[in-house]
Amino acid sequence: MTKEIQKKYAKLLVVTGMNVQKGQSVVISADVNQEEFVSYVVEECYNAGASEVDIRWDSQVISKINYKKQSLKTLCETPNWIKERYQKEVDDCSPYLWIISQDPDGLNGVNKSKLQKASVARRKVRKTYMDQIEGKQQWCIGSVPSPEWAKKVFPNLPTDEAVEKLWQAILDTVKVTEKNDPILAWKKHNAAIAGRCKKLNDMKLKKLTYKSKNGTNFTVELIPQALWCGGAGKTTSGIKFNANMPSEEVFTTPMKGKAEGKVVSTKPLSYRGQLIENFSITFKKGKAVEVYAEKGQKILEDMIQSDENAGYLGEVALVPKESPINTSGVLFYETLFDENASCHLALGAGYCDTIKDFDKMSLEDCYALGVNDSVIHVDFMVGADDLSITGISEDGTKHQIFKDGTWAI
Ligand code: ZN
Ligand code: ZN
Repeated sequence: MTKEIQKKYAKLLVVTGMNVQKGQSVVISADVNQEEFVSYVVEECYNAGASEVDIRWDSQVISKINYKKQSLKTLCETPNWIKERYQKEVDDCSPYLWIISQDPDGLNGVNKSKLQKASVARRKVRKTYMDQIEGKQQWCIGSVPSPEWAKKVFPNLPTDEAVEKLWQAILDTVKVTEKNDPILAWKKHNAAIAGRCKKLNDMKLKKLTYKSKNGTNFTVELIPQALWCGGAGKTTSGIKFNANMPSEEVFTTPMKGKAEGKVVSTKPLSYRGQLIENFSITFKKGKAVEVYAEKGQKILEDMIQSDENAGYLGEVALVPKESPINTSGVLFYETLFDENASCHLALGAGYCDTIKDFDKMSLEDCYALGVNDSVIHVDFMVGADDLSITGISEDGTKHQIFKDGTWAI
């Protein structure tokens, strides 16, 4: 991919993604193999007025060695210097950019239960810091191809071609082309999504029923105070940002404890470097009580036991089958993309900032309304071509929301 296009994309992540403001101290997390692209992003951060840019370099190759060689006790610990870094991020309320490029299979061979225990332990510590700036922080997840990821997506192509093809697929989904102004394209896109959210919010939906001939037969209740959101978000201080690039979904937070029936996955789920395929989850009183997976059964079972609330839902998201990620036909093996190809649900934490007047409430207030709290948040796809979703309003009115896998409103 040409440097010019990469720079255009870097600017989009900084201006539309994080929306870096003058004087802000930015944090970027990226893999060591992405130095060139990260340098473009850093340049754009300073152009936007950043006071400093702190890079959290990561290496999946080294992480894998650490997972194998370190004791579980060491892996579970968060050293003080890392905690101080987290604290600075809280104190500065730093905009945060994650640049994803990892190999979806990169942690294969690591003991799965060790990996699970270690990441849950470290996430618990990380979460105490994240909770302090929830709703206040601008953040964005973007991605660039690595050779390993590209070969996973396009296994039959030579590495160079695969990387180029994955670049193209990524840029298509984030609306970056040679000729266009992607920042303007995102303004229009955000406005269209906002219109859809308004329609749904005006319906005051109490619950949604999903039906598909693949076996999905499922009802989920919503939180009366939770809003349908999508596209650009806003911090409590009023700064707009786009947390996910790409982003096609319109989503809300469901009521904890109020989901019944079975959902059948329609795309594989890549979870911490491992694939779960052809699976179904059955809910009773809001909790996943039965899971079945043709591949990755144990991973799925462990996932829903990450903590006491990991088996409850945290997100309900609607994506029409015409989404550019779906029509590209590419399976990215990366949730950031694949979740935007299809209607999905998430197991684990709900988004407190979907609650109306969230900025005047504590996290505890939100949990009391029915937002789930967990160390995990894992999206899985349920959008089939024939999926029908019916909404029932608080006053009992029925609305056909989705018909044959796409918007009916
Ligand atoms: Zn989502
Ligand atoms: Zn999600």
